[in-house]
Amino acid sequence: MSFDDLLAANREFAADFDLSGFDGVAHAGVAIVTCMDSRIDPLRMLGLKAGDAKIFRNPGGRITPQAMEALVLGVHLLNVDRILVVPHTRCAVASNTEAELRERVAASAGQDASWQPFNVIADQEAALREDVQKLRSHPLVPDTVEIGGFIYDVDTGLLDQRV
Ligand SMILES: [Zn+2]
Repeated sequence: MSFDDLLAANREFAADFDLSGFDGVAHAGVAIVTCMDSRIDPLRMLGLKAGDAKIFRNPGGRITPQAMEALVLGVHLLNVDRILVVPHTRCAVASNTEAELRERVAASAGQDASWQPFNVIADQEAALREDVQKLRSHPLVPDTVEIGGFIYDVDTGLLDQRV
């Protein structure tokens, strides 16, 4: 078992592979930073397709140093001129405290998890404003780049621009 099902699916995918010879730029000029949550389909929710966007995901959809690194590369080398920061409703890292997440992971792991950091979000709206501000004030993100902060509703599929 292990990866057999996925590798079989990959062979089918490769049988009519149509993305070869494709460059790595964002064809629609879009970059999306969003949560790892499996309820989010970043391309489909914006009417985009493979090749259109740079996508960076982490728990909560935060502008971490790694996200910033990806966006600076995106803006300068990969055709990005619009950035969407997209946290979502019912996000685990915005609805648990760090202590709660550590407890739940410890219960699953059967061992201490108190040393594992989880970057929980106390106030999702405030965190989103802070992340968008961080991008807008970054010296390597030019003013010509449009930056928006949105909350994605996992129950309706709708994006709501907040900043
Ligand atoms: Zn989430």
